[in-house]
Amino acid sequence: MKYDYDVIILGSGPAGFSCAMQSSKFDKKALIVEANEQDFGGNWINTGTVPSKALRETARIIQRFKKQFSELEHEKTYKRHQMADLHFYKQQIQESKIRKVETDFDKNEVDTIRGHGKLKSDHEVVITTHEGEEKTLSAEFILISTGSRPVQPKEFHIDHDKVLDWNSVLKLNHIPHQLVIIGGGVNAVEYATTFSNLGCRVSLLNPRDNFLPFLDHEIKEEFKSILKKEKVEVLTSVYDIDVQENSLRNTTEVKYKLNNDHEEGRTHVLETEHVLFLSGKIPNTDTIGLSKAGVETDEKNYIVVDDNYKTNVDNIYAAGDVIGYPALASASFSEGRLASCRMFGIDALDVPPEIPFAIYSIPEISNIGLTEEDANEMGLNVTVGRAYYRNITQGHISNQDDGMLKLVFSTETLKILGIHIIGERASDLIHLGQAVMSLGGDIRYFINHVLNYPTYSEAYRTAALNGINRVYKAGVKYKKILKHQNKED
Ligand SMILES: Cc1cc2nc3c(=O)[nH]c(=O)nc-3n(C[C@H](O)[C@H](O)[C@H](O)COP(=O)(O)OP(=O)(O)OC[C@H]3O[C@@H](n4cnc5c(N)ncnc54)[C@H](O)[C@@H]3O)c2cc1C
Repeated sequence: MKYDYDVIILGSGPAGFSCAMQSSKFDKKALIVEANEQDFGGNWINTGTVPSKALRETARIIQRFKKQFSELEHEKTYKRHQMADLHFYKQQIQESKIRKVETDFDKNEVDTIRGHGKLKSDHEVVITTHEGEEKTLSAEFILISTGSRPVQPKEFHIDHDKVLDWNSVLKLNHIPHQLVIIGGGVNAVEYATTFSNLGCRVSLLNPRDNFLPFLDHEIKEEFKSILKKEKVEVLTSVYDIDVQENSLRNTTEVKYKLNNDHEEGRTHVLETEHVLFLSGKIPNTDTIGLSKAGVETDEKNYIVVDDNYKTNVDNIYAAGDVIGYPALASASFSEGRLASCRMFGIDALDVPPEIPFAIYSIPEISNIGLTEEDANEMGLNVTVGRAYYRNITQGHISNQDDGMLKLVFSTETLKILGIHIIGERASDLIHLGQAVMSLGGDIRYFINHVLNYPTYSEAYRTAALNGINRVYKAGVKYKKILKHQNKED
């Protein structure tokens, strides 16, 4: 049967974008259907990854300047800096990314069409344009990469003025004096430190009974003490949250209860200028005609796929936020590319199970592999090596001395099992360790190789030496450590 396209892709976020680019490299005819009337790029460029990180970068620049040149220390950021300037910085980055996506599509002869795409059958998509016109196109393969949207609270209303979500926070026209963030996940923590570094008083109301549970305990403690220094108030086990306008006092009131309160059931009230609700996301799978093609979803409406990103329908694939965990731009790029490889029968390596995670708080946090607690629970014989930014020359030079790098490695083989970093450049720094780890290297790599100096990478060398010292102190002779290496090499 002759189709209009080799592949039709619903959505131009990282999953859709990378599938289109990869397919075009295989000389396949690809069509991107994008519901957003103006811009390609989805949450990746328009509302999530890129703008939130660009805004964070402005806060980081201001924070560094304030820390370095303390004349500003006593002056509130919101008095000195205009939100419009911060938006301008962010906007320029977004515009250049969108232009780049457009040129990449053009150069690689990927066709695009604006409108809401919906499955009509397993090989057909009906596209409704913003003018209401309908067009049906067919393809041998279809990729669903329609992303996700913010969860809406049941108890109160997001008015996008006083009460914001991840979309409307990007339209704030001033730096607020106070902000209450509801949510305890990565985005909540990122926005908390962005705004606190802009001089805003931030309270984080976390409905869960734990805080970033996947972090190594030492990294978490370090982060908590940084948040305390930054005067970010973190409350966990918060429930019965309600948000109301108090027009008499011209303020927004957040009422809540605490599970671990010594006065059980007591209602607390916080007055704030704005509320930012960041409590998760839901996949955009409800209006795309999945049932027409018989595509299966799970109980949370995520599309069920196999290891090849294939749904239960042979020629329909799905990638990115619509398939759930890890629901990151980083992973979506790989998933979209791999889906294309699998459609067209090109051999490609799977995404390794160990992927790095980053929290773009100020400072950053990044990790890969096992935490010390995980390893202990698994009964592994591990040793840790630590390096503190205050002892790293680059930390001094950049005046960024909050932070640490921790290596978790096998005491017997010295192989790296986990890396945990908090501090400046953590999300970049993790990749050096990731490469050594995935190539089966051990901590001696950082001692035996010359690393540029001064750099934050020095933390790897210091942590490796610290780790080897621990192995040595535990009774293994240095000579043996080296001998072991010679034997292996
Ligand atoms: C505040 C925030 C910060 C984040 N920070 C990071 C980060 O630092 N690092 C990271 O890796 N990830 C981050 N993420 C997550 C990341 O943005 C998403 O995981 C990623 O964008 C998902 O990619 P996707 O391709 O699945 O979907 P999206 O990027 O959401 O793109 C989906 C596209 O599909 C379109 N669409 C929807 N329905 C249809 C339809 N019916 N027809 C046609 N088109 C349709 C949408 O308009 C959209 O353009 C962040 C997310 C948020 C909200």
